[in-house]
Amino acid sequence: MGWLLLVLALLSLLLALWSRRRSGLPWQRVVYQDTDWQRNDRPLIARQYDLVGKPDYLLQVRGSLIPVEVKPERQAPAPYQSDLMQLAAYCLLVEATTGRSPKYGLLRYATQTFKLPYTRAVRQELIILLQAIKHDRQAPDVARSHGNAARCRGCGFASSCTDSLV
Ligand code: SF4
Repeated sequence: MGWLLLVLALLSLLLALWSRRRSGLPWQRVVYQDTDWQRNDRPLIARQYDLVGKPDYLLQVRGSLIPVEVKPERQAPAPYQSDLMQLAAYCLLVEATTGRSPKYGLLRYATQTFKLPYTRAVRQELIILLQAIKHDRQAPDVARSHGNAARCRGCGFASSCTDSLV
């Protein structure tokens, strides 16, 4: 279960960090008709990046694996930056575990799908974010980045967090 805690911790930190940052990540809407989606059952592990994660699906597209993240309840005109970074992390995991970089990842909301091209710039932005996360994980404390009590109520660290709003 150690890896699961690591995943949750990383994703939680990723969301918290990303809410503090603005990003110029590219994205575009796509209409995706492929129904041959394979649900992914195993975590992908990249120890060199201290990263473990499991995209909802991995698509086989012309010999490449394309990660897909599904947020079935979410409706928004544009993808959340935190979701894009989570998707970028899955692209990095696919790259690290297969030796082949996916050209893009897909983010599925309730009514539409967004495509994140996995470019060098996106990869670099993710690497910088992962380094910041690693730095913050080693710091004695990290300041709360929001004033949202509901977020603290749903947080797995609330019982030990000195900055919790609940
Ligand atoms: S309890 Fe609130 S402030 Fe503390 S880590 Fe969780 S979300 Fe952040």
